Amino acid sequence: MRYISTRGDIPSMDFNEAVMMGLARDGGLLLPEALPSVTSAKLNSWVNLPYQYLAVEVLSMFTGSLPRLDLEVMVEKSYGSFRHPQVTPVRKAGELYILELFHGPTLAFKDVALQLLGNLFEYELKKSGSFMNIIGATSGDTGSAAIYGVRGKEGINIFILHPDGRTSPIQALQMTTVTDANVFNIGVQGTFDDAQSIVKELFNDLDFRDTYHLGAINSINWARVLAQVVYYVYSSLKLRKAGFESVDFSVPTGNFGDIFAGYVAKQLLPEGCINRLILATNANDILTRFVNTGEYAIHGDVTHTSSPSMDIQIASNFERYLYYLRGQDGSEVKADMEEFARTGRMNLSELHDQVAADFASFSVSEEETIATIGEFFKQHQYLLDPHTAVGVRAALELKQDRPVICLATAHPAKFGDAVQKATGKEVTLPAALADLAGKESRCEIMAAESKLIREYIRQHALS
Ligand SMILES: *Cc1c(COP(=O)(O)O)cnc(C)c1O
Repeated sequence: MRYISTRGDIPSMDFNEAVMMGLARDGGLLLPEALPSVTSAKLNSWVNLPYQYLAVEVLSMFTGSLPRLDLEVMVEKSYGSFRHPQVTPVRKAGELYILELFHGPTLAFKDVALQLLGNLFEYELKKSGSFMNIIGATSGDTGSAAIYGVRGKEGINIFILHPDGRTSPIQALQMTTVTDANVFNIGVQGTFDDAQSIVKELFNDLDFRDTYHLGAINSINWARVLAQVVYYVYSSLKLRKAGFESVDFSVPTGNFGDIFAGYVAKQLLPEGCINRLILATNANDILTRFVNTGEYAIHGDVTHTSSPSMDIQIASNFERYLYYLRGQDGSEVKADMEEFARTGRMNLSELHDQVAADFASFSVSEEETIATIGEFFKQHQYLLDPHTAVGVRAALELKQDRPVICLATAHPAKFGDAVQKATGKEVTLPAALADLAGKESRCEIMAAESKLIREYIRQHALS
């Protein structure tokens, strides 16, 4: 299996190179040259596999020359850290099925991908005798999942910038209580945008970037998408076993990473296994407008909601879908993306029939989100976090006569205030969160000045 860029301007490469490259050097995103597929017979033979075994089956279709035994070890390490024996269990609540993706170390679905990515990085670096300094900015969730993905790993240091005092107290503690020697938390005295622009500046300094082998952890890394394909297959199989050969999924969406993994799973499985992908957005509805009209256009500023991990304007993984929509023609993708950079919009309305065949979409307001948490708890005694509630509401709106699997992307305790407001019920913290307050913590508080932060990183980086 070789990997190509959505913009078609670089030679193809192996899986390991694609993982280490992250963003393609021509500015595009990396994708398999051709998507593999699974026969019905093969799929049926997977029905009883535990998560880890299924993961090896699915991942090995994409990982090229990576030895299977090594993959098995990495998968075992990655998902051994989850608190549920099924890793991503499926629960029935009323008419809907809830796929719980929040049993990892930081209680959000990003653990599924970042646990594996950390092990892949360590493995590749060890093989090549190299090192990496990961630098990232976070408004809360991605930072902790990334830190847990690489803590204690050889050949990797990680520097995570967060806006000091502007994340939730639990989010800050989740990061700063990781005191492994390779983890550096920097509390920036400023906003998330300040932190983000400092990180961008460091990456754009090519000298600095090359000297310190800077690595990124954002959702454009192909391995992150790939790791997420597994739970679509896993949960489809759970329902297949219960007699349902065709299912829909509802996915609360921000950067289009998670739902793009669903799109890959849909191509991978026999025709009709995954029938519809419901793309659920909060008040930030650029993707819903795209699915419903064919026009992808920025509209106003980011709206802050109770589902902050979906408060985005531009979905960084959208380009991957665009590549298929454009018939795998990199030059058309490039032209579209240039047009978008220039004008803030791209008109794909002539391809709208295809878009409508691939996705259905619904945008959920803040009031509807909170109301859904309250109603769902009353009816089913099941607590939804606000992100999951967006997906559940969209599923209830668009449900047809097939089962819908709703992706539960965060544990309700991570967003306890919103959940309490909706249900009047205090959310009890799981042990992993309740213990944090008394733990030792480490964090460097710094002014939002790139010169100072560059110097701090220089002093603590691997080289
Ligand atoms: C990141 C995140 C999302 C959105 O996922 P994308 O891959 O960006 O679409 C949804 N819910 C939670 C809790 C998240 O952390």
